[in-house]
This record gives sequence, structure tokens and C-alpha cells, in this order.
Amino acid sequence: METRGRMTIEARGDALVLAGAIDESAALHELIGRAAAGRLVLDLGGITFINSLGVRDWIRMQAAAQKASLSVELRRVAEPLVHQLNMIIATRGNARVTSFFAPYACDACGREESLLIDALASAAGLAKLEAPAMTCPECGAQMAFNDFPERYFSFLSS
Ligand SMILES: [Zn+2]
Repeated sequence: METRGRMTIEARGDALVLAGAIDESAALHELIGRAAAGRLVLDLGGITFINSLGVRDWIRMQAAAQKASLSVELRRVAEPLVHQLNMIIATRGNARVTSFFAPYACDACGREESLLIDALASAAGLAKLEAPAMTCPECGAQMAFNDFPERYFSFLSS
């Protein structure tokens, strides 16, 4: 496992697993050199924070990937990155998001949790801005999506 500033990188299967905070020391654009067979797969489930310099570097990475005609797949995209994808269109590049985390809350027991949504399996519902149904891991009741779907899912419509 490598460390760059407050972020770690680990190769796992066909993906590079990034975790921690993305800031000016993350050097994300250099990840382009790790693409295999024209493909770069990033697992982003462990990203906890991204600052404005990290966002700038992220956009550089996306631009470099487009220039190199790489296909970029983003898996298990954590909530802080989903917010950036929604706010700043340039962060999306040509990347395909195959799964991402989203906030849910349980009215029955009060539990709040970030749950993984399979963007491919749920594509039809997401296109209609419908959050997939989720079961509370605590009490088994149905959890409610805890954000505004038209805002949280907007990155999928690009
Ligand atoms: Zn519950």
C-alpha cells in the first residue's frame, strides 16, 4: 500500500482502491499511468474528504484520461465525491459510475447510514429519480432516502 499525503492507494483485483482524504499531495493525475488495457478502475468507497486542490487534481486526472482515450470506471463512490460530481460538471469527465454510496435514514429506529447503490442494477429507477429500497440493518424496517433525489442523483444524467 502506498501513501500520498492523507490518501492511500492499493491495487486490488482490477481496481485501484483509494482511501482517506484527497488533497494537493494525492497526485491523482499520475494514476493515468496505471491504466491497464485502456481502462482505469477506481474504488472510492474509502474516500472521506476532498478539498478544493484535490478537486482540481481530480479534474486534471479526468482530462488526462479523456486525452488518452481511457475508459474510467468509478466504483463505490463515497458521498463526499458524489457531492463534487453533482456540483462541478468537469469532475465527471467521461467516467462511468457503476456504484455509489447514498444517505439513508430509518424512521423506525433513527439509524442513519451511507448505503451502496448499484447504479447498473438500479439504472431504470435512478433515471426516474427513484432511490432503491433499502432495509435497515438495525431493525429491518424500510429506510428512506435522506437527500433530495433530483440533487443527489443529478451526476447520473450527464
Ligand atoms: Zn431501523
